[in-house]
Amino acid sequence: MTSGSLEDIIAHTKAYGFLFPSSEIYGGIQAVYDYGPWGAALKERVKTLWMDTMLKHHTKIVGLDAAIFMHPKVWEASGHLEQFDDLFIDSKESQKRYRVDHMVEEYIQTHAVSEDFREKWQRAFAGGDLDQILHFLKEEAILEVQEKGNATNWTAIRRMNLMFPTQLGAQAGNQDTAYLRPETAQGIYVNFLQTQKSLRLSLPFGIAQIGKAFRNELIARQFIFRMREFEQMEMQFFVPPDEEKTWFSFWKEARRQWYVALGIPEKNLQLMPHEKLAHYASDAVDIVYDFPFGFKEVEGIHARGNFDLSQHERASSKKIRYFDSRRKTSYIPHVVESSVGLDRLCLMILCHAFVRENVQGKERVYLRFPPYLAPVQVAIFPLVAKEGLPERAQRLRDELKYEFAVFYEEAASIGKRYTRQDLIGTPYCVTIDHETLADEKVTLRDRDNMKQERVPISKIKDILKVHFSTQSFWNSLPA
Ligand code: ATP
Repeated sequence: MTSGSLEDIIAHTKAYGFLFPSSEIYGGIQAVYDYGPWGAALKERVKTLWMDTMLKHHTKIVGLDAAIFMHPKVWEASGHLEQFDDLFIDSKESQKRYRVDHMVEEYIQTHAVSEDFREKWQRAFAGGDLDQILHFLKEEAILEVQEKGNATNWTAIRRMNLMFPTQLGAQAGNQDTAYLRPETAQGIYVNFLQTQKSLRLSLPFGIAQIGKAFRNELIARQFIFRMREFEQMEMQFFVPPDEEKTWFSFWKEARRQWYVALGIPEKNLQLMPHEKLAHYASDAVDIVYDFPFGFKEVEGIHARGNFDLSQHERASSKKIRYFDSRRKTSYIPHVVESSVGLDRLCLMILCHAFVRENVQGKERVYLRFPPYLAPVQVAIFPLVAKEGLPERAQRLRDELKYEFAVFYEEAASIGKRYTRQDLIGTPYCVTIDHETLADEKVTLRDRDNMKQERVPISKIKDILKVHFSTQSFWNSLPA
């Protein structure tokens, strides 16, 4: 049994209706992808599972759906206008572009670097002097490593803000520049007090939302891992200042276990402390997954102190204080954030699900999704498209279609139909044959072991309910 390369995943998800390059008939557009029917269904299930985790499993979290457009001052206050930059450099020889921070982080991961090296890097990076950063890269021979020793010809380091500016309304002055949000978190911060007051919430509590974010990424070579339009699932947990450390530890572990509950082996996951902290963070770790291209970030967990709320308080001149009735004092809460890239998470799930195995000398490829994430949950097939079998099969489809994601198909041999469902990860197929008409039994086929059993048609619904239950998932998470 083997897993797939990134090329396998890209080809498979395109061929079987999960992901398509955007506007492909015009040659595509870099780092933008469309979700096909099965990709969109998978994404919906992942969203639901995450939202249920936040709103139902953890009982102290409420939902929100803030607009993509926000007042331009938001991005000034949050620091995005000034500091949401990436540094990049091009090799003139290979014509390849590199993100400077990624280059150094990769170097640190693959080389035994000293504390002195780390300190020098952090100092150079924080200082923001591009010549000094270039000097550091050259002095430590990091550029040569990237280009396998033979490139000496590089451009200067350049800086680019990742936000997409746009104009709202007819005016075209600078003061009217709005931005497509580069993260969903700010929508939560500006609504913190409204939410707290209108629902009479007491600390600690969280606000969760899922939504689109946009970043003009400089380098986009890894499929849906890095997109210019993507979706985030973010939860900001507001706490009294002296509880920030405790809640940071709690969320690190709770979020790590979420991936384990999804079936990701512990060896494929790591908690990675940040090499350099973002301007807002007082502590931060990434949850990284072993993608076909190495261990990379899926989620960030950040202790943000009271940075965001106090910035908005200052910039808006509106008090953003919480009155703590137990302590009889008002203060700006601190925040611990969990920020997941939905598309990266889907890529992780696809990579983990992709299985290629040899069955009696023949290659078999299937997607081993957890049943509750599968785009199609049950496929219903009449063995042949005649003699009353389609009518009986359609009756069963109609009995199940509101409770499960059902796919119905009559064409092709039964073997081919099973194979097609394996390729999109359908956990169960039900076949209606001539005997069904006499004994009211059907064949239930399991995707993973390909076993087939005869079961009474009247029991199908209950059997499927058990198979698709998420109860064991919830049971394996910390409360
Ligand atoms: P990276 O270092 O990979 O650019 P980041 O540290 O800037 O990511 P955050 O700002 O912490 O990312 O965003 C939170 C999450 O949003 C990330 O963990 C990631 O899953 C997701 N994300 C960020 N940028 C992108 C993108 N361009 N495409 C897809 N997902 C993204």
